[in-house]
Amino acid sequence: MKDLDKLFGTMVFNDAAMEAYLPRETYRKLKMTIDEGQPLDTALADSVAEGMKRWATERGATHYTHWFQPQTGVTAEKHDSFLSSAPGGAAILSFSGKALIKGESDASSFPSGGLRATFEARGYTAWDPTSYAFLKDDTLCIPTAFCSYGGEALDKKTPLLRSMRALEKQAKRILALFGNPARRVFATAGAEQEYFLIDRKDYLRRQDLLYTGRTLFGAMPPKGQELDDFYYGAIDAQVSEYMKDLNRELWQMGILAKTEHNEAAPAQHELAPMFSSANVACDQNQLMMELMTKVAKRHGLACLLHEKPFQGVNGSGKHVNWSIATDEGVNLLDPGSTPSANAQFLLFFCAVIRAVDEYQELLRISASSCGNDQRLGAGEAPPTIISVYVGEELEMILKAVESGTHYDETENSVLRIGVDTLPPIPKDSTDRNRTSTFAFTGNRFEFRMPGSSASIADPCVALNTIVADSLEAFADELERAEDLTKALQELLRRTIREHSRVIFNGNGYDPQWHAEARDRGLPALHSTADAVPHLLDEKIVRVMARQGIYTRTELNANCRILLDAYRKRLRIEARTMLDMVRRELLPAALRAQRKLAETVTAKAAALPEADRGPESRLLAAIAEKTAEIYAAADALELRLDAAGEAADFHDRVLPAMAALRKPADALERLLPADAWPFPTYGELLYGSSSS
Ligand code: ADP
Ligand code: MG
Repeated sequence: MKDLDKLFGTMVFNDAAMEAYLPRETYRKLKMTIDEGQPLDTALADSVAEGMKRWATERGATHYTHWFQPQTGVTAEKHDSFLSSAPGGAAILSFSGKALIKGESDASSFPSGGLRATFEARGYTAWDPTSYAFLKDDTLCIPTAFCSYGGEALDKKTPLLRSMRALEKQAKRILALFGNPARRVFATAGAEQEYFLIDRKDYLRRQDLLYTGRTLFGAMPPKGQELDDFYYGAIDAQVSEYMKDLNRELWQMGILAKTEHNEAAPAQHELAPMFSSANVACDQNQLMMELMTKVAKRHGLACLLHEKPFQGVNGSGKHVNWSIATDEGVNLLDPGSTPSANAQFLLFFCAVIRAVDEYQELLRISASSCGNDQRLGAGEAPPTIISVYVGEELEMILKAVESGTHYDETENSVLRIGVDTLPPIPKDSTDRNRTSTFAFTGNRFEFRMPGSSASIADPCVALNTIVADSLEAFADELERAEDLTKALQELLRRTIREHSRVIFNGNGYDPQWHAEARDRGLPALHSTADAVPHLLDEKIVRVMARQGIYTRTELNANCRILLDAYRKRLRIEARTMLDMVRRELLPAALRAQRKLAETVTAKAAALPEADRGPESRLLAAIAEKTAEIYAAADALELRLDAAGEAADFHDRVLPAMAALRKPADALERLLPADAWPFPTYGELLYGSSSS
């Protein structure tokens, strides 16, 4: 695309814009806050606000908003105009430092899990200077954290920032031990976003897609994804136009969308932006989802971000690639080429293994949602068990470290990390294992469990926190050691011994793995209802408190919010099913039956001796399915009325929904195409790409 480079970041108040629009001294100090994490000098705020306003209004902005991420997982904004009144009935454009730094909003409708009673509805938004402000729809959007009057986190950004700090603190201690002090250390994240694109007209004709984001009915068309002809296939013209347009918007926002390709399922695609610090990546992913949806509308398409829009077809994930880096661009999970660099790498690597093993439940929870429940463990998606794929070569190296033998095992001498030779670990020594929930991919980990519609904040908070905790324990031990090399070897050996149960290089989709995981003592938490209550497990409460991420009160609130959302979503799904059945499916079935019945009678009158077997049998079959649907809908309604806890929804409502879907999908196969009341899977999945 022409001039795309000139477009890049034009809608972002980035470093170049700051330099151009802020007084020198303000710019210098603000940069120190951004680059070195120094507390913001509030005296600067007025000057920054003025520069931001000038930059924004010159580009047509009329409003500003504190942009934040409440625990719903989407983003929220409350717009204020730059206009304020001036003497003599005039108006001026103003934006004060106070308005930049802190916002107060009546936030009573955001979930707080009981942290805030509705009558004390005040919530505060606080500017996050480490994430760039940007322009969207003539509005200056200021990324902010959102908390209660008492300072409790009401959003996803506050804990994310806290966890970034915790990780930085502990990683710096480790780096200092190796004589590699760093100025800044941060978690990096790159989120591969999967999504479906379908025709907007079809989308609007399906209540289930509109209300729940997924299809609650639908028989498989004769062709699914069995030919694998969609994966990396040629991109259809309409989709390609969409991607071009989307790229443009993303580039303007400073989001470097890097790869795009068709995914395994028909109508499924993937978009992966260039990674950045986890905090920025999280903001960008939220913005990206918003833009994906918005641009789709413009192209007569609907972008489905749900984890499992279609049963029987691959679901959508959001692979979170995660690593730790210094501000000098050193990736701490990149194996070095010298033995000592490898020792440092191995220590960080083992910190992750230990963290993942010890806090599997937390990672599982971080990827839990009603939508993702439909996807995980579905045969073509990661299982609900957490395991780490390290590849054969690294596994051999870990084994060698554990047993203290040389890696190539021919020399039986003792391996001394840091002084002796440790084999260079080849980059990209790991094969792709797409069945693992948590895979080392050469210089980062790829967490494949998170769902496509969710914010990446939760998985990043979980990873940052638990790895910080491992690093803290490591640093405590090593800082005390008299002989660092010896202590390091001992520590690595012990860590590998104690935590290698979580390493699994095999096929995670293999049912045998489930049995093996059970033998290894790895928890299998199959659903959100199973997983989320573990948020209050003592070890999780303790690690969160130790690292200063969440208090017990906040965790309690989070637990409630998650279970509440789960219940509400399932209730909406069940109600949508009932509505579609009673107002669309059953009437269609009855109409079809009447037509058939009339055919039977008419034929009998016209040709008494003719065989009426086919239409009679078809009529009977439709009548039978109709009766089944009718009964199943009543059963679902009863269970829905009785359901209270998340477990009720999981154990009783979900099976009743499945029981209703079955005869409905069977009916779809019996009715004439033009009698079916909404677009079929065939139309949804192939309609837009073949038009
Ligand atoms: P693949 O499909 O092979 O898994 P992609 O190229 O689709 O890989 O996506 C990889 C993602 O990982 C990109 O978003 C990329 O920016 C990100 N990534 C690469 N290196 C790092 C890193 N060090 N830390 C975090 N994310 C990274
Ligand atoms: Mg990819």
